[in-house]
Amino acid sequence: MKRIGLLGGMSWESSVEYERMINRGVREALGGTASADLVIRSYNFAEIESLQAAGEWDHAGRLLASDAHQLQQAGAEMILLCTNTMHVVAPAIEQAISVPFVHLADATAEAVRAAGITDVALLGTGYTMEQDFYRARLESFGLTVLVPDEPDRTIVHDVIYDELVQGVVSDDSRLAYQSIIDRLVERGAGGVIAGCTEIELLVGPDDVGVPYFATTQLHAQAAVALALS
Ligand code: GLU
Repeated sequence: MKRIGLLGGMSWESSVEYERMINRGVREALGGTASADLVIRSYNFAEIESLQAAGEWDHAGRLLASDAHQLQQAGAEMILLCTNTMHVVAPAIEQAISVPFVHLADATAEAVRAAGITDVALLGTGYTMEQDFYRARLESFGLTVLVPDEPDRTIVHDVIYDELVQGVVSDDSRLAYQSIIDRLVERGAGGVIAGCTEIELLVGPDDVGVPYFATTQLHAQAAVALALS
């Protein structure tokens, strides 16, 4: 079994889910007392959030790339970046390592395509919904990506930073997300990507009337498959 390196803590509310899902996946495959072989770098998310807010993406990229290299030095045989948003600096990380980088958008796009869906809604932080790094990656798989209009985009973004990364899961916010998803489905979305690793703490597949692509789950599954291959 290959050792998995996790760049986490962005936020830890979702990183603990990564750890749980990856360990559970290994136990389901191997049985008994088996669990995943992990090395984890977990950040103080307040520091990462400040870099995001200041637009200091190069600084953040150098930090994450250096730590990805250290995970490799610690024996990691693949690297996962446990946040959709920070995939904006994925190229810097990929340059710093020689082991596979398991790109979250690739794992997600493959699942959407396997479900036979071409038009898909994307919920995430403002950075993920508005910048090109994530949408273009999904579109390179032949997908058409729909994001919410304003003010819905701001609501989705604010719930992530003001609630979910702080451990707050609210029924009102779930209802707000459901209404936003309904509007995206009316615009033609055949499925929804929870393109932020905390969204699946708030909204589950049963809360949505179309296929739901939970990125933490999909990323964790991709890591387990590679670790056991
Ligand atoms: N975990 C989130 C994501 O998947 C948001 C926090 C962050 O900005 O990294 O995008």
